[in-house]
Amino acid sequence: MSDCLFCRIIAGEIPSSKVYEDERCFAFRDINPQAPTHILVVPKEHIASCADVTADNAALVAHIFTVIPQIAAAEGLTGGYRVVSNAGPDAGQTVPHLHFHILGGRRMDDRMA
Ligand code: 5GP
Ligand code: ZN
Repeated sequence: MSDCLFCRIIAGEIPSSKVYEDERCFAFRDINPQAPTHILVVPKEHIASCADVTADNAALVAHIFTVIPQIAAAEGLTGGYRVVSNAGPDAGQTVPHLHFHILGGRRMDDRMA
């Protein structure tokens, strides 16, 4: 997906502040952070959103959810953190490549949005 922003970031064609990488996923700091720690975790395989998770790619998502607590620990988020994935326009998804926001370092609002 040469026209996908996050595929281009994963490929190194667009610079990013990388915090983690393995053979299946990539994590980098959000360019417009909404919390003191705001990291995006993305699969290297292009999946459009969490609405496109299927039995065939669910193991990749499960892998990402084993990486998220490692990143949170490395970032020192001992007080907790929030994981968000927006799917589609009503959720405000702006980049159509599956990503999980890790938000931490401040008290999150009680509301979910
Ligand atoms: P969404 O709104 O799709 O859930 O999240 C997309 C996120 O990507 C936003 O929080 C936005 O700030 C971030 N973002 C957009 N373009 C770039 C970029 O070029 N580099 C980085 N690091 N983050 C980006
Ligand atoms: Zn992509």
